[in-house]
Order: sequence, then structure tokens, then C-alpha cells
Amino acid sequence: MLPRQQIRNIGVSAHIDAGKTTLSERILFYTGKIHQMHEVSDRSGATMDYMALEREKGITITAAAVTCFWRDLQLNLIDTPGHVDFTIEVERSLRVLDGAVLVLDGVAGAQPQTLTVNRQMQRYQIPRLIFINKLDRTGADPLAGLASLRETLGLTPVLLQYPIGIEERFAGVIDLIEMQAHYFEGEAGERWVQRPIPTVLRAAATAAREQLLDQVSLLSDQITLDMLTGNPVSSQLLWQTIRQATLDLTLTPVLLGSALRNIGVQPLLDAIGRYLPSPSDRGAIEATDVATQAPAAIAPMPDAPAVALAFKLIDDEYGQLTYVRLYAGRLAPGDTLYNSRTRQKARIARLIRIEVNQRQSIEAVAAGDIVGLIGIDCASGDTLCAAERLVALEGMTVPEPVLTLALTPRRQADIARLEKALQHFTKEDPTLQVKPDPEQQRTLLSGMGELHLEIYLERLRREYQIEVQVGPPAVAYRETLTRAASFDYMLEQPAQTGSAGQFAQVVGQIAPCDDAFQFSNCLPKEKLAEPLAAACEQGFQDAVQTGWLKGYPVVGVQVTLTAATQRPLASTPLAFRFAARRAFEQAFSQAQPVLLEPLMQLEIATPADFVGVIQSKLLARRALLLGTEVRAEVTIL
Ligand code: GDP
Repeated sequence: MLPRQQIRNIGVSAHIDAGKTTLSERILFYTGKIHQMHEVSDRSGATMDYMALEREKGITITAAAVTCFWRDLQLNLIDTPGHVDFTIEVERSLRVLDGAVLVLDGVAGAQPQTLTVNRQMQRYQIPRLIFINKLDRTGADPLAGLASLRETLGLTPVLLQYPIGIEERFAGVIDLIEMQAHYFEGEAGERWVQRPIPTVLRAAATAAREQLLDQVSLLSDQITLDMLTGNPVSSQLLWQTIRQATLDLTLTPVLLGSALRNIGVQPLLDAIGRYLPSPSDRGAIEATDVATQAPAAIAPMPDAPAVALAFKLIDDEYGQLTYVRLYAGRLAPGDTLYNSRTRQKARIARLIRIEVNQRQSIEAVAAGDIVGLIGIDCASGDTLCAAERLVALEGMTVPEPVLTLALTPRRQADIARLEKALQHFTKEDPTLQVKPDPEQQRTLLSGMGELHLEIYLERLRREYQIEVQVGPPAVAYRETLTRAASFDYMLEQPAQTGSAGQFAQVVGQIAPCDDAFQFSNCLPKEKLAEPLAAACEQGFQDAVQTGWLKGYPVVGVQVTLTAATQRPLASTPLAFRFAARRAFEQAFSQAQPVLLEPLMQLEIATPADFVGVIQSKLLARRALLLGTEVRAEVTIL
């Protein structure tokens, strides 16, 4: 078993077009796993973007985990999607990675998506490295990039390299710790050579190193002492100090390069190993014991019972491939895992390591690693664990969908297949919801935004060859009441020959409350038998599903039943259920019902020039501005 200190679970993130795909490709190439590099200008060859649809949209919508090896390190690269409509994917990939490389466009500096990703990583306390890319391009300026890291992202960047030439003359990087010039020769930069620093750059490099030492000395008395006494500061000490500061999030190391021109990628790989955390550095994570509901800490111990988080599912002709991060224990083919949500058990048929698009079967895996499982049926976000320790890893909060489309398959024959396909999608993506619309023979598909839903319609077409007719988007309104109202409803159908008739009377009130729905029954069993009380509750539940103002579900209502009358024979559960439903309808109209609109919390980062325009657009849409934060270059609304 590889020591856990030699594993890195890393995400690569960037603003679109900064070079994330190109860099990931280069990493896979230099680590020896793909032997031919693709130019990704048309994106068609990119290994990480393997879904046809993703290529077309130009965005990565699924997080693929790819494993590669560099020196004595095992790198699990987790591809983090960046688009806002896929927040659940982003959150999931952030949960399972330990460190990240943030790619910055060397010309454009920090861009809106860089900002978003950086804030997400800050929230998850993920140590980062910055790779300033595209230094071969006209207008590239690493110092401006550095300033934007400070001013726009609020980081404390520490520059570890100095560029050799810039723009079209960009030829390599100087390592400011070892004071060596690095060049990347051969057809694809695979021959990495180190030479003395060119004479013309010596003064500049020395000044840059001084700056680095000044910054780092604040964190280490030993470095300060060495500097004061004129002792050389050892590379080892610098590496250690920078590593600790990176893990503590006090410093963010910055490296330079051009992924496209094959410059600076190998030193970045070394830096990943040197500065970013291993699973052991991450320490224990929080979970909940399923039986006792008590908090449980899961330490990354291979000798503990297995605990894994399913963070990504891929369904294909081989069945379900479940990507998990194993937080504790070991797994091998034949092992049985319990799903802590469903309490079902399943046997692992195979363990799969994904190396680019190749599936490699492996025999065992241990805590801290990321692996694909075959033979497990579960939903994304489920915790899979050994029987002796049933825990749930902290649940992910799933946002409520905000937009709904009505779907009807164009071919009658596709109805069942549509249902199956949608079932499959919702399992992968809990932010997607499917509901039948029985009256209109349609299926309602709800999600986080137009693009989110569009992606799934496209997948229906491509993966399932189902053509659907799409009704206009509908906003997920809700209904609620603004004051209490009472009800007293009597259902009475006279007895006829052969039947006892139907009778039920319910009395009580409805009132606003914070929960979606509450039912309290003040009547003792002698007054209203259990089955009839249950039928009443069911009737009220039916009523809130329907909605009475515009047909949207009612939320935030408490129903209290204070009296009921029954008659022998005629008072059936059905009568009470029906009476309750009608009683609700009666009271709801008296309770000053209103329509609720979905509200979203937005955070907008913009250059100051656009603040006025954005504010007026927001206000025109009845937005409420909660606050602004001004940094040097951006304003956050
Ligand atoms: P992503 O959207 O972040 O994945 O960006 P890509 O890797 O797809 O790159 C976007 C575009 O920038 C492509 O046309 C790349 O060829 C180009 N590109 C990527 N890295 C570099 C670089 O270092 N220098 C230059 N000049 N172009 C680059």
C-alpha cells in the first residue's frame, strides 16, 4: 500500500478559457498516461472533457476523476465543473478533494469565475496553488496577475518563480528557491533541463528571491535568523515553511507557465507534491452515527471500518460506475458495503481506477484514495460503509429547484423510456426533480436554471434518442396563508338502499407556521378513532398538494383539528378524508392566501464600471440589495 502521504486529491479550476483543459492534458501527458497531446483549440480531443455534449457546450458538466503518477506521488485529478447552474457538482467535487490548482489567465488576470471558485474553495478551506498560464501571449503580465490575486481574490500570493522572457519570448522559468533556470525542450517540452540563471536575469531574480524571503521570514524565526546572520537559507526550510503556510491558508504559492507551449508544467507537478496536502494532512472528517445520531469523526485510517462517499455516478453499458472517496478503511472486490441512507447492502464486483479514459481494474484500495466501484447501486451523495460502523457523512444541502419545464415525448412509445431516463438523471443529480402531471399527461422536470434543464433535454436526445416536446418554463411558485382561519365542514350524504351514506364533520383552524405542513389533532381517541384521524390528516395533505389560489402547492400551514362528529356506519375514513379536504379549501380562502415566489441569494462580482447598470437591472426585477463590498478592482453586490 502506498503511504497515504504520497496521495494528492487535487482539483484544477479556472475561469473558462484560462487553460484548465490544456493544463490537465499536459499533466496527463507528462505523467506518462497519454502519449499524444491534443491541441484543445477545438476541444474535440480533450481527454478530460469526454462527454460529447460537454465538448459542444464548452463546459465541463461532470466531474471525472483521473489518476496519474508523478515521481513517488499518486495524483487523483478531480475535474471541477465551474458553471453556476451545476453548483451541486461543484460542491460535491470540492468535498472530496484536498487541494487545488487555480489556473489564472496571464493576460486577463482574475476573472469572474476565478473569483467564484476561489470563494468556494475558501469556504471549504481548500489549500491552493496558483498557476499563471498563457505567459507566451501578447499582453501577458505575471506581476499584474499577482496584484489581481491580492486585490481581487484577497489572497496572499507568494511568487516562487520568475519568468525567462515574456510574451512570444517566454522561454522558461527561474526557480527562486533553488535559483535555477528551468527549460522544457523536445517536441512536447518533455525534456526538462535546469541551467544556471542567465546573466541578464540574475539581478531581477535575486530581487524576486529577496521578496520571497521577506514574505516567508514572517512565518519562520529560523529563516529570519539565517537572513540576519547572513547564513544561506536552505531550500528544505523554505519548502517546509511554504508548505505549512499553504496548508494553513496563510500563503498561496504562485507558479508560472504556458500550458500550450509546454512551459512550467513539470515544476507545477512538483509543487503539488511539495505544498498541497495529502489525505493524512486533512485529518478526520465529520459524520453522524446512523443508530445514535451522535457525531462521529472519521479519521483517514486504513485499519478502521470502511467509510466512503459516493460523489459521482456514471451509467453506461457496463452498469453503474460509482466514484467514491474512501475516508477510512480498505476496499477489495467481493466486499459488502451498506448504504447508510437506504440500509441496503451491496457487493463490490470490481474496483476501477480511471486513468484517462481507460479503466484499470485494481485489487485493493485504502483510506484517502479515490476509486470507481462496480456492482454498487446507490445515489450520488450516499455514504457507503462497513456493517460494523454505519455512519452518514455530513449531508449535502440540496437546493430547491426554481424552474420547471413540462415534457411530453413526441412518440407515445417513448413514455416508459422517458421515465427511466429521468429516473437515472435524478439519481445522479439531486437538484433535478421529476413529477408527473397526470391531468395533462406530461412530466414536469424541475431544476436550477434554464441551462441546467437544457443539458438534460440534450442528454435525452443523445443518450436515449428521445425527442420531447417542451412546454414553456414555469416558475416554482408556492401558496401560503397570511392569517389564521377556522373551518367547520360537514359532509352528509343520505343513506340509500344498500348503502349507509357518508357522514363526517370536522372543526378546527388553519394558521401560518414555519414548517411546510403540520397537523395537530386535539381529539382523544374516544372522540375520533385512529383510522379516521389518519384519514383526516391525509385529506389535509391532499389539500395542500393541490393549491387553491393558482394550483401551486401550499406551504407554511398548521392545521389543528379541535372537534369532529361521526355517525356509526356512515363515517368511513373516505368520508373524513374528503371532508378534511373540503374543510381546508373553505378555510384557505378566508386566510388571505398569497402566492410565494422563489427567492435566490445572488452574489455578483463586477468591475466598478458596471455596478450602476447591474444595480438598475436588479432593481427592475425587484431585487433587494443586501450589501456591497468594494475591493481594489471589483465590487461585490
Ligand atoms: P479551459 O476553458 O480553461 O479548459 O481552457 P482551454 O484549455 O480549453 O484553453 C482555452 C484556449 O486557450 C484554447 O484555445 C487553448 O489552446 C488556449 N491556451 C491554453 N493555454 C494556453 C497558453 O498557455 N498559451 C496560449 N497562448 N494559449 C493557451
